[in-house]
Amino acid sequence: MTLANGRHYLAIPGPSVIPDPVLQAMHRPAPNIYTGELVDLTRSLVPDLNKIAGTAHNMAFYISNGHGLWEASLTNMISRGDKVLVCATGNFGHGWADVAARLGAKVEVIEFGKQAPIDPARLEAALRADTAHEIKAVLVTHVDTATSVRNDIALARQAIDAAGHPAIYAVDAIASLGCERFEMDAWGVDVMIAASQKGLMTPPGLGFVWFSDKALEAGRNVDLRTPYWAWETRANPVHLYEYFDGTPPTHHLYGLRQAVDMILEEGLDNVYARHEILARAYWAAVDQWGAPLHFNIADPAARSHAVTTLGLAAPAATQLRTWLTEHLGITLGISLGFGDIGSAESDGYFRIGHMGHINAHMVLGIIGAIETAFVALDIPHQSGGSVAAAKLLASRV
Ligand SMILES: *Cc1c(COP(=O)(O)O)cnc(C)c1O
Repeated sequence: MTLANGRHYLAIPGPSVIPDPVLQAMHRPAPNIYTGELVDLTRSLVPDLNKIAGTAHNMAFYISNGHGLWEASLTNMISRGDKVLVCATGNFGHGWADVAARLGAKVEVIEFGKQAPIDPARLEAALRADTAHEIKAVLVTHVDTATSVRNDIALARQAIDAAGHPAIYAVDAIASLGCERFEMDAWGVDVMIAASQKGLMTPPGLGFVWFSDKALEAGRNVDLRTPYWAWETRANPVHLYEYFDGTPPTHHLYGLRQAVDMILEEGLDNVYARHEILARAYWAAVDQWGAPLHFNIADPAARSHAVTTLGLAAPAATQLRTWLTEHLGITLGISLGFGDIGSAESDGYFRIGHMGHINAHMVLGIIGAIETAFVALDIPHQSGGSVAAAKLLASRV
């Protein structure tokens, strides 16, 4: 028997749930791309996105997913043969490193493993060792969506400053922007990337690269720069097509405008608090259920509020995911970076996306559904996960 009919809930770390008003804003005929509403709407997005990013720096739009933003940022920062230092705390850090290597950079990776955030002392030591200042950019992931670790971006900046190193500091905030506080300027970030399909609640396909004047100057003559990816025209357009170096992503822009309106109406502080409380409701349930289910990131202070990676003795994690989709109409995220997809190791992890357009009853629904799967699949656990989450929520509303 399946009880999956009804509205399916895709609770994965991107694409996230798209609000109905965003879908409705996109449902329209092709708009005029030369003058009028779309031109004004696109311009109006820049200051509002800057607010969410915590910056007064420059912003370039791209028609792109996150992988494209890795390339967009790198091609504006480095030349072939330049060195980049990557702080890897999971699959996504390695992904950015891999793009840099394939672009011809010399890549040095500091591996912090899959269970811990960046240790700033190791970053500082690596930069101090680079006495010739060969490292042109330091790449850090704010939230690594594979491990669900959250790195302290201001602390990594302090490590760079303590080493007295001039490298450009670039941060991937694709998973976290719009879910967790990000203060690009206050935290001393030179380059930041984010995409539409996670905290910004809009379908995949729109990307953003913010860059400081220092990054702009440092990147003026890099030889990886090609006309399409070059960021300064996109950040200083005269005509609408220059934002995108071609036809604008018309419908995405209407959707994003609506999504950003919703975020700013709720208020950034409230958005961040909602994500924190809902994440803690999941964590309260997981704490109550106990082994064999366990957090990938043991320290709550280093856990993301947008995604939670959980371990569950293989192959139970995959069995649970499959059962939830088939019987209850819920899809949770697959394991990423823990062995090849389909391997025994990878069947021991799953992820819950709790980013963007989510509220308490959605979280309680997933928690109840996981409890149902535990019973149906005979997975050992202590009962009371839902009650633990309910108590947490009741104490915070
Ligand atoms: C989702 C994500 C990416 C990749 O985005 P795609 O749109 O899948 O290319 C990169 N970095 C982080 C931190 C992400 O969460």
